[in-house]
Amino acid sequence: MLKGKTALVTGSTSGIGLGIALELARQGADVILNGFGDAEAPRAEVTALGVKVGYHGADMSKPDNIAALVAYADQEFGGIDILVNNAGIQHVAPVQDFPVEKWDAIIAINLTSAFHTTRLALPGMLKKNWGRIVNIASAHGLVASAQKSAYVAAKHGLVGFTKSIALETATTGVTVNAICPGWVLTPLVQKQVDALAAREGVSNDEAKRRLLAEKQPSLQFTTPAELGALAVFLCSDAAINVRGQAWAMDGGWTAV
Ligand code: NAD
Repeated sequence: MLKGKTALVTGSTSGIGLGIALELARQGADVILNGFGDAEAPRAEVTALGVKVGYHGADMSKPDNIAALVAYADQEFGGIDILVNNAGIQHVAPVQDFPVEKWDAIIAINLTSAFHTTRLALPGMLKKNWGRIVNIASAHGLVASAQKSAYVAAKHGLVGFTKSIALETATTGVTVNAICPGWVLTPLVQKQVDALAAREGVSNDEAKRRLLAEKQPSLQFTTPAELGALAVFLCSDAAINVRGQAWAMDGGWTAV
């Protein structure tokens, strides 16, 4: 379905980004990976699906790195058709203790990077009159939790940004939407499981159960593959009129 398209997935060396990159590749899209840590294993996993795979190690908190990433996509892949703004980090602390540099990093990576990738990739999409921008927000883009002020602010901001750009592109072949996952068991969430286990003196399994029970009525983690399948749908022709949505996949978290 996506043969001939190029997808850039930011923060795709692990977790949700990698899951989405794999599902897009299964549909035939060429994929540009980005993120820190080991890029070789994810690269091999996507390459095995028979598509062209690139990697760029841009730090998504740095506008000049983001410009270099988009230039790489233009030179090596002839542009970006599908942009998945996924890179993100978390820090948990009460606002009066929130480290200023953590606040700045979360806003830069989880929100401002999507502004930069969008402003740089959108002209190419508009020229082809086809494009898909999928912003990975969060249940925290729709509702709040205590101690996550920067993350909640960034994710609410990303949902607002999504709506605004969807309106700007509404009469074109470019659609812009957000996906709002609930708990997904990735390295980002495992850190929170570890913190809960230490704080409450319980096992890893019990900490996972308690974490889910607090927020996610299904009591099941959402998976990167499920989120990838939703991203594939948003990239399909059938989704041409899905515009400016913040689509929750959160086991009922935001249904209350
Ligand atoms: P993860 O830690 O597994 O992956 C994050 C990815 O972003 C990694 O590839 C990492 O290298 C990359 N990254 C981090 N900082 C970066 C930077 N400065 N520049 C480039 N890449 C950077 O986390 P995840 O859980 O897969 O999270 C992915 C996205 O999904 C994030 O935006 C997160 O907020 C969102 N999300 C996660 C959950 C969850 O429960 N895990 C829920 C809702 C939303």
